[in-house]
Amino acid sequence: MQNPFENAMQQLKRANAVKAFPSEFLAQLEHPNREIHISIPVKMDDGSLKVFEGYRVEHNNARGPYKGGIRYHQDTDINEVKALAFWMALKCAVANIPMGGGKGGVTVDPKKLSKGELERLSRGWARGMADVLGPKKDVPAPDVNTTPEIMAWMNDEFMKISGEKTLATFTGKPLDVGGSEGRGPATGLGGFYVFDILRQKHNLPESCTVVIQGFGNVGGNAAEIFSEHGHKIIALSDSKGAIVKNDGFDIKAVNEFKKANGQIEGFPGSRTITNAELLELPCDVLIPAALENQITFDNAPQIKAKFILELANGPITPEADEILYDRGIPVVPDILANSGGVTVSTFEWEQNLKGEHWSEVDVFTKLKKILDEESTIIYEKSVALKTDIRRAAFIVALERIAEAMNYKVN
Ligand code: NAD
Repeated sequence: MQNPFENAMQQLKRANAVKAFPSEFLAQLEHPNREIHISIPVKMDDGSLKVFEGYRVEHNNARGPYKGGIRYHQDTDINEVKALAFWMALKCAVANIPMGGGKGGVTVDPKKLSKGELERLSRGWARGMADVLGPKKDVPAPDVNTTPEIMAWMNDEFMKISGEKTLATFTGKPLDVGGSEGRGPATGLGGFYVFDILRQKHNLPESCTVVIQGFGNVGGNAAEIFSEHGHKIIALSDSKGAIVKNDGFDIKAVNEFKKANGQIEGFPGSRTITNAELLELPCDVLIPAALENQITFDNAPQIKAKFILELANGPITPEADEILYDRGIPVVPDILANSGGVTVSTFEWEQNLKGEHWSEVDVFTKLKKILDEESTIIYEKSVALKTDIRRAAFIVALERIAEAMNYKVN
């Protein structure tokens, strides 16, 4: 697999070739402020002891406390977490929220753990990282395979260790322990708001055919929201397989099927295809919402989508970006397209700090305002600089971070 941090650094170089930033500034962005590795010993249900590897990377906090999710995955390693932390720094700047970039992870297949083992592992991560966390220092959130319940365990563990009675150290918590209304669908909904602004700029129809890779928090919510807004979801996938239905899926029915069967494959009226085939289906909009390195030098020439919305982090490699750009396929980059999640996480942090609870309508109204404005700013930047939306988004983010670090940029 390609090293995601090297990909991220290549993206930085591509953006810097369009607008040059001071070399001292870039040198700092090429290195995270801090990388923390911990060992997490966990008593397993059979009485044995297993030691897991945990990570936190704090990339840059010029604009505010480090912010970013925690990923549980068997392939997670320090390079992946470093890339994700770098993208978080840019993403918070793109959304213009007062946060820096961080990310965490554990190398583990959580599906192989019992609930008790998962809780002990999660509390172990929070204990091992407690010194560097806190509302004004570093505020983690969920990512792949981490849930509101896991955030609640971690926040509880952090409060016990620090003695600080605060709910503002972890976001993405359940509602009854300080979670925000709307955090669940925030990333998918934010992706829709961004898409809707750029759809109009790119003259896409009001009702598009949509293909979604990944049917978890982000992909599942996006499927529901796009379909509620009149778009037709013609293909879906999860880690177990992909399905296609040319007349469009009833997403609520797919959700019920997944709950009952643990997979989407076999959904009545659908045809099974491979995940590789799914990415190459003809459609108006392709939404990668699973993991990184899905569209590469090898399959980019075969992509038939007219428009790509990156809801996953890092699903397109820099080589594939070049190919898609040359082929005239617009890509809305992760740091803009999926920034709704960290934006509502930041609303949750703000509510916790102020002891407030905002209504869902308030949360979504504030989210839409931010994403409508920032999507427009970035689109206009891409037109002014005659470049793609990814490089424009990088440049807007870099200008904001540079300003916070007192670098002069023209
Ligand atoms: P999740 O664990 O809820 O869902 C991941 C989904 O991807 C699952 O349906 C899984 O089966 C599927 N999947 C895994 N490997 C796959 C493969 N090879 N092919 C097809 N499907 C596969 O995770 P999530 O929170 O939905 O995160 C998905 C992506 O969105 C990640 O890149 C994450 O970093 C990014 N993201 C998440 C948030 C958030 O708020 N959760 C915010 C911003 C970005």
